[in-house]
Amino acid sequence: MGRVVFIGAGPGAADLITVRGARLLAQADVVLFDALTDPALRELAPQALWVDVGKRGFRHSAAQPAIDALLVRHAQQHALVVRLKGGDPGVFGRLEEELQALAAHAIACEIVPGVTAAIAAAAATQRPLTRRGHGRSVSLNTAMTAQGRLQAGRSADTDVYYMAGRQLAVLSRRLLAAGWPGDAPVCVVSRVGWPDQLATDHRVDSLAAAAIFHAGRPAVVTVGAGASPVPMAASVPAEDALKPTAQPGKPGRRKISA
Ligand code: SAH
Repeated sequence: MGRVVFIGAGPGAADLITVRGARLLAQADVVLFDALTDPALRELAPQALWVDVGKRGFRHSAAQPAIDALLVRHAQQHALVVRLKGGDPGVFGRLEEELQALAAHAIACEIVPGVTAAIAAAAATQRPLTRRGHGRSVSLNTAMTAQGRLQAGRSADTDVYYMAGRQLAVLSRRLLAAGWPGDAPVCVVSRVGWPDQLATDHRVDSLAAAAIFHAGRPAVVTVGAGASPVPMAASVPAEDALKPTAQPGKPGRRKISA
């Protein structure tokens, strides 16, 4: 009987995986991987048998019991089975079902966290998800219910929606109905971490226009405080920024606003 390590691969770029994740991947006998993980990760485990268990979108959710069974079977036959998931394994990754399947067969497991798409999108667009004073809370949401209906609300200063890419017009209406102001900022980032990554800016009431840019691409939709660009201070040369602010009688010094 072997053990299973769930590893978060991060979104897109293979080098977003953690050092711990990469080390364990290099020892794997079998790797069960998802559709949204970078094929370049194979180079970290050329010795392993790579099994594609990818499924995209809720249409294929029936495949989950088959994945659970496959995981158990491989763990019974190999010393180290890696379950490689896009982003973080514990964020919209059906991790609970797989943990339950392993527990039912008394198979030991471990979880190595990964960079979730919301965090990678915030980094790629240089938009901190929290903002001092007005961005004090962040929520991660799936736009889709288990039944495939679109649901959205307002639960934090910054709400990030996963799996909403196909229905941005409906998302816009649901956000307005939930009380988001029409002019609240929205940032949509698709295929973050990949060479064709794309980020666009919108308002809640005009989010439908984002659909043409992101059609058919995995996207995260960030709404509220964390979606707005950081106002950049008027370009202050670095050496000036270190000097004290203007002194009376000493002209020529730039004043730096806080
Ligand atoms: N466990 C993953 C999420 C899996 S659910 C994580 O932590 O990121 C799949 C959803 O994640 C997609 O519908 C999309 O909303 C988001 N996603 C995954 N990869 C992405 C990427 N490269 N760029 C933007 N969104 C992504």
